[in-house]
Parts: sequence; structure tokens; C-alpha cells
Amino acid sequence: MDSTDGISMDREQLEAYKLEISTFGNIPISSRNCGIGCIFCKVSTDPVLHRYPKIPDISLDDLYLGFTYVKPQVKYVRLGAGVLVAPHTDPYLHPLIYDFIKRTSEYFPDKFVTTVTTGAYIDEHKLEFLSSLSNFAIDLSLVTMQQEREQIIPRSTRDRVSHILRFAPLNKVTLMFTGSLSSLKSDLSLLQDIGVFDRSKEILVRRIEYTKFSQTNLNSVSLASIAGYKDCVRYLKEEHPEVVFTVPYLSDEFRGGSNEYFIDANTRISNLKTRILSDRQDYFDLICPESSYSYFTKAFFDLDGVTTHLVRNNLYGGSISVAGLLNIPDIVSQVSTSDVRGVIVIPSEMVNCDGCDILGNPIQGLEASFNRKVWIA
Ligand code: SF4
Repeated sequence: MDSTDGISMDREQLEAYKLEISTFGNIPISSRNCGIGCIFCKVSTDPVLHRYPKIPDISLDDLYLGFTYVKPQVKYVRLGAGVLVAPHTDPYLHPLIYDFIKRTSEYFPDKFVTTVTTGAYIDEHKLEFLSSLSNFAIDLSLVTMQQEREQIIPRSTRDRVSHILRFAPLNKVTLMFTGSLSSLKSDLSLLQDIGVFDRSKEILVRRIEYTKFSQTNLNSVSLASIAGYKDCVRYLKEEHPEVVFTVPYLSDEFRGGSNEYFIDANTRISNLKTRILSDRQDYFDLICPESSYSYFTKAFFDLDGVTTHLVRNNLYGGSISVAGLLNIPDIVSQVSTSDVRGVIVIPSEMVNCDGCDILGNPIQGLEASFNRKVWIA
């Protein structure tokens, strides 16, 4: 093993550890298999995630080293599962998790510290301690407490999660829309009855997406979720405007509620227009994932020289449409060089802190393929 003094990771693990923290603000603390068995889990099937090494249970020295990679501007520091590195695990499987939480919250008194978890491994006796930390609270992936729960989360620890809902410090509680509006209503009224609406900063409802790497038994649930999602959003906007919901693509039926998707998109559009108008180039080619293509096409319609290009996510397939999963091979295979006339503009989510896409391809490769300048915006 090629290790640095006091650090329990080899060079490759350390590089991955650093990349995850610097790009996303997540400190991956272990790659232990959680054993919960959610049907939406892609832990053993996602080839992109397999590019990164597994992380051992990190030591205290590793944690303090990780603190130095956290960018000053991030507001949240998350301990546990990462986006790309150690992505599918439960932070509460790490033997030092409670000590790690305390040290992280002390090290970053001006940031908010959280752990994303299903709650299956949280020790109920530690809830008082966790509540005593002023800048810490849990992001609870609740999914649902209705009859579909065990179908989606086989080892669902329903009793423990009921206790956590009542007594843990909560930052965000995430529900998944299973396709049943009555189940969603029952979940929301449960959360209301036990005071979660008052105690949690955010309640988020997600559509259940699938990819070509998802387990096949997810498909029927995700198809039902996708089919009923517009009704779900309509209901939330009318009855629970304080509840946040995910926006699979920018379109008027998903506008409203407490979500920030449209605010972010409008800020981005306005910044990009300013940049385009102040630049001397004549042509700009905007690369758009499915989630933003129509909206951006409309927004830039009256700006001469700007063309939008739709790039579907063939890498992940399924119902995935977000910008963070855009990648150079999908762009190169779907956008013809003869259709590109100017500066190529790609969304910032597509690029990690090393200037690479999700597959590890440097963005310079895109410039070389099209022989055009690339802007990240
Ligand atoms: S909790 Fe996360 S890692 Fe565990 S099975 Fe569910 S999705 Fe996979």
C-alpha cells in the first residue's frame, strides 16, 4: 500500500476522496454495504460508480485531512455516502460516526453539517446528543411509511424510523412519490400530525426515476410515479405549497411551490445572456439536457446567433434528464460538428473539480472534438 502518514487510504482512494469532497462537499467515510436492499439502489450495477475505488472506514486523521478539501463557499458539509465515491452506504455504519459528527460540527461552526440516511442504523440513544449540536441535523430518506414501504425498502426498520421521525433533529425529510396520491396524502398527514412540518427545514417529494442500470423490479414503481407525477405536483401546489418537489424538466406545470429550479434556471439564463452580449463572438451553441432544452430554447429564441442542442442521456438511459449526468460521448454522438458554429456552452454541473465529466473525460476533449472554445456556465 502506498499510503501517506496517518492516512488509511492508498493513493487512488485518496484522490477519489479528495475529488468527492472538493466537487460536492461530501466527505465519504466508508464504502460498507448497507444491506438495506432498496429497489432503487444501483450499488452493484452502475458502471460509472465502479470507476472509483471503495473507501475503507476512514480514520480521524483522514477526516481532518478531508476538512482541508472542503471549499470555503459551501454551506453544507455532508458525512457519509458520496455522489460518485462511496455512493451507496449508510453513514451510521461507521463505528466513529457520532464522534465524527461532533468534530465536524465543531470544525465548521459556520456551516451546516448533515448525514443522508434511511435511519436504519441510527442508535436511538444518541438522538439527544445529536439534538444538542446546534449546526447538525439529519437528512432522512423516508421514502414512504405506507403499505408500499416494504416493497421498496425490504429491510425497512419501520419502528426505528417512526421513533427517529418523532425525536431526531431533522434537516430534510424526503418522500418518494410511488404513484399513489392517497399514499402521499397519508405520508404528509403523518408528518404533519407528529410535528415534522415544524421541526424539519424541508420536506421534499421526489419522482422515482429509473436508468438502464436500475433493478428491473423498480420499473413498475417508477413508471407509476412518472405517470402520476403531474397530478402529484398539482396536489402539492394546492394543498402543501411549503413542500418542495423535484422538477424532472422545466415546464410550466412544475412551476411554483417552494422549489428553486426555475429561480436557478432564470438566474443562469440572465447571466449567460449578459456574458453572450458582452462577448465579441458571433455564434454560441448551448448544450442542453432534456430537463432544460425546451425552456432554454424559448429563453434564447430572440437572441441572434444562439442555437440550443438537445443531448439525451444515453449513458444512463431511462428517465434520467439532469445536467450533472451529461457526458462528452453523449454530446459528440448526438451533436454534429457541422451544426456547431461558435462557442460551445455546457452546464457547470457536468464538470467536476478536476475539469472532467462524469466518465473522467477532460473537457478539453470536447474542445478538440469540435475545434471550438468551450464555456462552462
Ligand atoms: S440505503 Fe442506499 S445503499 Fe442502501 S440499499 Fe438503499 S439505496 Fe442502496
